[in-house]
Formats: sequence, structure tokens, C-alpha cells
Amino acid sequence: MAVIVQKYGGTSVGSLERIQNVARRIAKTFDQGNNVVVILSAMSGVTDNLIHMAEKITEFPDKRELDVLLATGEQTTVALMAITLKSMGYKAVSLLGYQAEILTDSKSTKARILDIKATRIMELIKEKTIVIVAGFQGADEKGDITTLGRGGSDTSAVAVAAAIKADSCEIYTDVDGVYTADPNICKRARKLKYVNYEEMLEMASLGAKVLQIRSVEFGMKYNVPIHVRTSFNEEEGTMVVNDDVNMEQLVVSGVTHNKNQARITLRKVPDRPGIASKILSPIAEAGLIVDMIIQNTRQGNMTDLTFTVEKKDYKPALEIAKKTGKEINAEEVVGDENIAKVSVVGVGMRSHYGVAAKMFETLAAENINILLISTSEIRISCIIDEKYTELAVQALHTAFGLDNI
Ligand code: ADP
Ligand code: ASP
Ligand code: MG
Repeated sequence: MAVIVQKYGGTSVGSLERIQNVARRIAKTFDQGNNVVVILSAMSGVTDNLIHMAEKITEFPDKRELDVLLATGEQTTVALMAITLKSMGYKAVSLLGYQAEILTDSKSTKARILDIKATRIMELIKEKTIVIVAGFQGADEKGDITTLGRGGSDTSAVAVAAAIKADSCEIYTDVDGVYTADPNICKRARKLKYVNYEEMLEMASLGAKVLQIRSVEFGMKYNVPIHVRTSFNEEEGTMVVNDDVNMEQLVVSGVTHNKNQARITLRKVPDRPGIASKILSPIAEAGLIVDMIIQNTRQGNMTDLTFTVEKKDYKPALEIAKKTGKEINAEEVVGDENIAKVSVVGVGMRSHYGVAAKMFETLAAENINILLISTSEIRISCIIDEKYTELAVQALHTAFGLDNI
């Protein structure tokens, strides 16, 4: 008997009607002779609401308690799903993260899974019981509840699939697969039949939230094929696979965007050894993640240094940068929250050149100014003014021949 892991995202369990719909889908998979382990998210909007409530009390809620609060979202859906399946006459059991033995480190709100023993899950499977596991949560060594960062149910699903050596891992979401760009902002986006782990990793890290980046890391490490599809119809979605071959023969497989960015510039800082570390070390020590860094060419003995951070880290990062700016006599420290990162991704870039030039020409033709650039072997990213995001994504999508694949 095959073991199938199915993860249903917030929209798929967003109402009682949808929960009942998903229950029928789970029951059908079970009736076809499979063992089924289900991972659920909270109902859509619930996690956001819980965060807002905590932030109404205080600007920076205690993170340990925030995890206790956020974990209730998934606790609700697993219980409702098990109640539904039991009322339909199926054997089903809901498990919270710690009951499923999902051991994490202690980094509240962004914990990492260290190990999944899954003895309880395996016992239940043997008893022909449908197991419903709360996504997004685990517990640390002390038994304290932790959560895995936004979108973390994807990671719960792939990690559980790896731990129980499942035959397949299906991620059910509100779009029917992985697209060449976010279908919600790019009308001409096309569904990909296959996407390579490496490409998916880049796409996830660059803003394609359809899969949480850590879920792709798990899939790649433990060779779990991930099938991204929708619970609203029976169609096949996208397979995320380990194959080295570029199945769709594309140079660029996807265009991604991320509006969750901000930049900080220190103007006219003394250009001497150690200055970048003097500016960036205090930012790192505060636990803030710097993404891109650029140092301008020197004018006299002075230079400008610019870096980007996530929007949520903008205020604390700016405060730290202003303090360091004073210490090193920077002329001024300025910031900009209205920026976005657009990127093109594809393993095909390894064997093609001219991709960067084409990207820059395309943006120039639309009169979009590039503020920062960064590249890897299979990606090129540009920071632009946020208001041009949609225009840039559409133009790049067309320029790289993705409209008609
Ligand atoms: P879930 O609640 O099911 O986990 P998410 O909202 O986390 O769903 O992820 C699905 C969303 O990801 C889609 O609605 C879509 O807007 C967004 N998305 C961004 N980039 C892509 C892409 N390249 N392909 C598909 N979806 C994408
Ligand atoms: N409920 C969590 C979130 O909204 C986890 C998830 O949906 O994957 O981020
Ligand atoms: Mg998600």
C-alpha cells in the first residue's frame, strides 16, 4: 500500500464547506487503497489575525508566547478535519506538532526542524488510520511549542514525507501548480509541468511563496518528489523533481518578484579596510538579515555603501545604520521602503550567455531604472522602484519567451 502525504493550504481549509470538500478528497484517496497522512494549515487569514491581535497589545510581542498563540490556528483545522472524517465513518486521528514528534530548535517564530521520529504516525498508519498533522509547528527539546516561519506547513509536509518515506507528497494550494510568474500579477503566466529543485529553491527565495524555501531544501536533500496542485479540481499540477535535465528546454523558467524589500544607503563613508564590516556587523548581531550589498566606486577617499533588508527589518536596521553612520562620520544615512526585487531564474542560464544584457535592455525599454543588481549561476535579480513591479514582470515574461510555452 502506498503512503501518500497531502498538505492543504489555508484557502483549501478556509471554511467548513471547504474542510468537508477536502475530507471527501482524503477519503477518496484512502478508499483507493492508500495510507494517507494529511498536513493542514490554519484557515486562510487566521494566522494574520492572531498576529494582529498580539501586535495590538504590544509592538513586539514575546516570541515564545506568539508561537503558542499561532499554533492554535493549525490546532483548529486538524481537529475540525478529524471530526469531519470520523463523522463520515473513517478512522482518523489529529496530531499536534509535538504529538507527531516534530523536534525543532528553539528559535521561536522561525524554528528549524531537527528530527521527526514519527513512531506515532507509523503506528497509526499500521492501524489503517488517517493521520491529520498540524502543519507549521513543532516543539523544542524542552517541549516548548515552536513555529516554522510563514508558509511553514509546506516544510512540515515535505519533512514528514521524508521521515516516513512516503511514496508521494502533494501540496494542495489555491493555484493549480508552479507558474512561470505569480499568476495573480502576470496574466500571461504559464503552468510548468516540471520544475527543477534548484530553480524552485531560487524562485522560493526570491518571492514565489507557493512553496516555503525550507520545504524545497528538504525535498532536495531527501529526494522527495513534490507535486504542487489544487484541491479545486482533479488536474495534474507541477512536479518539483531532482532531475538535472532542463525538461522544458527553457533558458529562463520563471520571473519572480518580491515587494518585501527596503534599502539603506550610507553616503560618503571613509573608504578604508574594515568599513563594510563596521557597518554590517551590528546589523547581523541584531539578527537582521542583509540581502544585497553594493559599494559605489570611490570619490576621493569616500564611498557610498547600500544594502537591502526585508521590510519588517527596515526600521531597526535604519536605526542601527544611523548610529554607525555617526560613529564613522558618514555624510548621511537614507532609506527607501518603496523598492522591489525582480528576478529571472533558470538552470538553462548555465549554458547561455546574454541573459543579463537582455534583462537590462528589457527594463530600459520600459524606462525602469535599475537601482541594484545581483546574480548567481542560475539567477539575475534587479532592485527597482516598487511601482514598476507588475510592468517589469510582464515585460521580462514576454522578453524571455514565456508567454507562449
Ligand atoms: P497556501 O495557503 O496554499 O500555502 P500560498 O498563498 O502560501 O498558499 O501560496 C500560493 C500563492 O503563491 C499563489 O496564490 C500565488 O499568488 C503565489 N505565487 C507566487 N509565485 C508563484 C508562482 N511562480 N507560481 C504559482 N504561485 C505563485
Ligand atoms: N498558517 C501559517 C501561515 O499562514 C503556515 C502556513 O500556512 O503554511 O504562515
Ligand atoms: Mg503557503
